[in-house]
Amino acid sequence: MATLKEIIDSQSNGSCSTVPTIGLNLQIIAEMNLLVPNVLVSFEDLDISANSAAVHAFLQPAAKDALRRAIQSRGKTLVLTSAYRTVAQQYLLWSWYQKRQCGISRAAEPGLSNHEDGLALDTPDFDAWRFILASHNWQWLGDGDPVHFTYMGRGVRDDIGSIGLKAFQILWNKHNPGDQIKEDGLFGPKTASRLDQSPAEGFGATRLLKLTTPNMQGEDVRRVQETLVQAGLLTSNEVDGIFGINTEIAVKNFQERNGLSKDGSVGPQTLRLLGGSITANRSLQLVTVSDRWLKALLNAPTTGASPITASQDGLPGGIASSHTMANTDLLRVKGLAAMFRQVGAKFDVPVALIAALASRESRCGNVLDRGGWGDRGNAFGILQVDKNYHTPRGTHNPSSLEHIEQAIGIFVDYRQQVQAKHPTWEDEYVLKGATVAYNSGVSNVQTKAGMDIGTAGGDYGSDVIARAQFYSNHL
Ligand SMILES: [Zn+2]
Repeated sequence: MATLKEIIDSQSNGSCSTVPTIGLNLQIIAEMNLLVPNVLVSFEDLDISANSAAVHAFLQPAAKDALRRAIQSRGKTLVLTSAYRTVAQQYLLWSWYQKRQCGISRAAEPGLSNHEDGLALDTPDFDAWRFILASHNWQWLGDGDPVHFTYMGRGVRDDIGSIGLKAFQILWNKHNPGDQIKEDGLFGPKTASRLDQSPAEGFGATRLLKLTTPNMQGEDVRRVQETLVQAGLLTSNEVDGIFGINTEIAVKNFQERNGLSKDGSVGPQTLRLLGGSITANRSLQLVTVSDRWLKALLNAPTTGASPITASQDGLPGGIASSHTMANTDLLRVKGLAAMFRQVGAKFDVPVALIAALASRESRCGNVLDRGGWGDRGNAFGILQVDKNYHTPRGTHNPSSLEHIEQAIGIFVDYRQQVQAKHPTWEDEYVLKGATVAYNSGVSNVQTKAGMDIGTAGGDYGSDVIARAQFYSNHL
C-alpha cells in the first residue's frame, strides 16, 4: 500500500502510471455521486474498450447520451486511452509535470483539467472518429492534442472539477477525524498535502502490520503501539510509528494473552481484539527479503559478545555490548545500506545480518589498512574474504558490490551446508550456524548450544546475531 506521494516519488523514473490509484479514484467518484446524485455515470455499457485499468469510464449523463449515439451510428468499438480523471490522478500528472518528469509537456492544476469535468475522452483512433463524434457535439481539440475530444453540448455542469475536489476533502475528513480540512472545493497547499498522504488503494483499507526490513511505518503502526501501551505491553517512549522488534514482541505477548496464534503480525483478528479501527493512511513498506530468514534472525538465541570481543570497545560483554558496538558502526553501515539491501534481496539474506557481519568483521571498514585488507593481509574487504580459501573480488574498493556479493555468496553456501548437515534444525539455528561457519567453517557447527566454541572470541555467532538484531531495528 502506498501513498500518492510515494507513487509520485517512486515513479519518477519514467514509468508514470496512475493505475495504483484505482481504489482511491473509485472512492472519490462514489463520494461525488453522494454529493450530487448522478453527477457522473458509468458508460461501460457502451461499445468501448480501454487500454488500461486506470481509464475510468465515467461521463456526465448528457455527454454519455451523445457518445452512445455516436458509437451506435458508427457501429464500431471506441478505443479509449483516457476518460474521467479524478483529482487524485490529476494530482499525480500535475506533480510529475511540475518536476519535469515523465515527459509530460503540460498538465492542468488539479480541479481544472478538462478530464476532471466528465466531458472529455482520448482515443488513439481519432482520425476515424473525428467526424462522427463532431456530429454528436463531441469536438475535436485539434492538432495540439489530437487524441482529445470534449463534449460541447447542453445539459452539463461546469463545476465538476470543484465537486471532485470537495468530494476528496469530504472523504479525507471522514477518515481523519483528527485532521479536518476545509471542504471548499478549492485546490491549495492544504489539500495538496492531504492528497500526498492519501492511500492509493483507498481509505480504510487495512494492511497487515508486521516486522519487515526495513520496518513498516505509519499512523496505523502508531495506533497499534498506543493500544499496546494501554495494555501495558509497551512503554510510551516506544511509540514511534515504526514496527520494530519491540513492537513485534509486544504484539506476540498480546496475542498470547488473548489466545491468538502468536505470529507477531497484526491482521484483522488481532486488530479487532486491539479494539482499534486502525486504518492505514500512511505507509512506507519495501520488503526486500523473504520473511523466513528475518524471522529466523529475530528468533535466533544469543548471549551477545564475549568479554574478550567486547573489551575492544572497553565494554563488559553480553547482548547490550553487542548492541553498543553495532551502534558505534551505525553511520558507516547506513552509508552502505542500499548495497546491503541489493545483495540481501539477491541472496535472500536479511540486510541487518549483512550489516552485522560487516560490523563484526571490520567495524564496517574502520579497521582495514589503506588497501582494504585486514587480518594481517590475509583477508579483504569489509566482509573479510580470506585469500587463503578464495580469490577476493572487487579489490579496487573494500566495500565494492563485487566484494559484498562474493562474501554473501559464501555465506549462503554455508547456510545450505548447515541445512544439509542438520536437516531437523529450526531456521534460527541454521542461520546462526551459517554465521558461525562464516568464521570457522561448517565443521565447527556441531550442536545448537556449542557452535560458538572455537570461533574467534568464542562468541562469533552470538555476537553477530545480537548485532544483527540491533540493526533490524535501526536500518
Ligand atoms: Zn485528453
